Amino acid sequence: MPKDGGGDVIDIRGGLIPGPLRQVTDPEETTEWEQVSPRRIDAADWERFERYVSEIFGAFGMDLDTPGTRETPNRFLKAMFDATSGYEGDEKLLTAFPNESDESEYNQIVEGGISFYALCEHHALPFHGSAYLGYIPNERIIGLSKLTRLVRLFARRFTVQEWMGRSIADALFDLMEPHGVAVYLEAEHLCTQMRGVREEHSRTVTTFWRGTYEENADLRREFLDLARSGTHKA
Ligand code: ZN
Repeated sequence: MPKDGGGDVIDIRGGLIPGPLRQVTDPEETTEWEQVSPRRIDAADWERFERYVSEIFGAFGMDLDTPGTRETPNRFLKAMFDATSGYEGDEKLLTAFPNESDESEYNQIVEGGISFYALCEHHALPFHGSAYLGYIPNERIIGLSKLTRLVRLFARRFTVQEWMGRSIADALFDLMEPHGVAVYLEAEHLCTQMRGVREEHSRTVTTFWRGTYEENADLRREFLDLARSGTHKA
């Protein structure tokens, strides 16, 4: 079961990394970088949007005049607004820490599964699943909760799985300048599943490689084994 808010750190020797790496004290752990550009919607605009939504939902068959549905257009808009809050953040303001570990530099660290919910940009319907992130640290490391926040920053948008994974990989690579970055995303897409286009519970898997992972097939295999074994814990 993907855990909410992070997961285990596993190194390639198969053990959990105890101590410092798991408990990076992070004085800059705030949500400020996630709200750099708050979106502001005028009250007049919001009311107009509510009328549009009412019109559409009504035309599709919803009775908007019941205690349960009177506020639905407003609630729907609020839910969409919250689900797209990733637009307010700026991943470039994320910070990393000096890597003080004297472990070999070439240990792979895998974090996951980080659960996420995104809206597909083709249908504005959710796709949701788990992300596994791998990296081989160089001079810098990153607090684990920030990896979760980073995934969700890119998930809370209108996006596609490919773009989301690429954005996460690039952001991590720029931020930490590690030897390599690996991203594994698996998700169920409601736009296809709800409409019966695809088999229910089918999952779409995407992987992204940067640095050492691009050249080293063994490393990719190790990462995938760890990510898949993580997902199979469910
Ligand atoms: Zn879609």
